[in-house]
Amino acid sequence: MRITGIQVGRLSLPLAHPFKTALRTVDRLEDVVVRVTGENGLEGYGEAPPTAVITGDTTGSILCAIQDFIAPAILGMDLMDLPAVMEKLQGCMVHNTTPKAAVDMALYDLWAKSQGKPLYQLLGNARQSFETDITISVNPTGEMVKDSLEALSKGFTTLKIKVGKEGTADVQRIAAIRQAVGPNVKLRVDANQGWTAEQSVAIIKTMEDKGLDIELVEQPVPALDVAGLKFVTGEVDTPILADEAVFSPLDAANLIAIHAADYINIKLMKTGGIWNALKICDLAKRHNVKCMIGCMLESQVSVAAAAHLCAGQEVIAMADLDGPSLCACEPFPGGPIFNGPTISMSGDPGIGVQFSTEWK
Ligand code: MG
Repeated sequence: MRITGIQVGRLSLPLAHPFKTALRTVDRLEDVVVRVTGENGLEGYGEAPPTAVITGDTTGSILCAIQDFIAPAILGMDLMDLPAVMEKLQGCMVHNTTPKAAVDMALYDLWAKSQGKPLYQLLGNARQSFETDITISVNPTGEMVKDSLEALSKGFTTLKIKVGKEGTADVQRIAAIRQAVGPNVKLRVDANQGWTAEQSVAIIKTMEDKGLDIELVEQPVPALDVAGLKFVTGEVDTPILADEAVFSPLDAANLIAIHAADYINIKLMKTGGIWNALKICDLAKRHNVKCMIGCMLESQVSVAAAAHLCAGQEVIAMADLDGPSLCACEPFPGGPIFNGPTISMSGDPGIGVQFSTEWK
């Protein structure tokens, strides 16, 4: 089946609450969307969130990459030779992982639709449903406690707490949340590169001494400080999850080789899509490294693609796919069902989300 068309469009959705991390504050989701058409008339959809502070990709760079580089490289190729198409997509330009991810998932959507199967069944078929955590934004302590209790009331049992702006003051925040939610809620802490290696060790050891029972700490140090990440991982008992430090399969291999982190957070917008994410999964499986699947600030269109990967791959043991639950809007029909903490796969072919917008 030849690839006959690649169009781009725009998606703009309000968030239920402003999303705040150590790196940014956002109150609206403004993403580029992609539609890939096959010669059989079937269509696949993808989404690209411009997360410049993490991937370097902006709305303009995403549109340019897709229209001027990616589309000319793969138009006319036969999608049934999936490896050839995917390697061409990854190789047509360096970096630009967000536009590559959007096109990659649209291709997978189309590929699975043309076989009449839900994508996760073609990616390993590990599970039919799983639970996601929910993110608690960085705010004054009282507000974070209130948000945590609200998340519990919606059925979430795992909270991902964003910290990293104020060093040791972060510990007080987490202690207040732990006290409010009780011992049975899992707490993940995401510093989003906000601490130095020494600060990280001091903060994490303090949390350990206080018995705050933190499941993991995500990306405590800057992305490029791999030596610092390894130092922290070696010094503390709490598992360390690498996020911004791992984009490509090569990043993952390098990190695993020196045990710079305990776990890896896979995000399609960092890997450039499902094709490379599967390579990281294979590597992680071989080395017994547990993975998380995460997302940027994305809507259901691309989070659904990540959900298929998670449902396909056993090695992805943790999910942070709360994007759709942060949006203040009705979901698009079709595909995985996002119901509070539970994400259930449907029998719809492909990724399954029925999405339409103005295409050009
Ligand atoms: Mg993170």
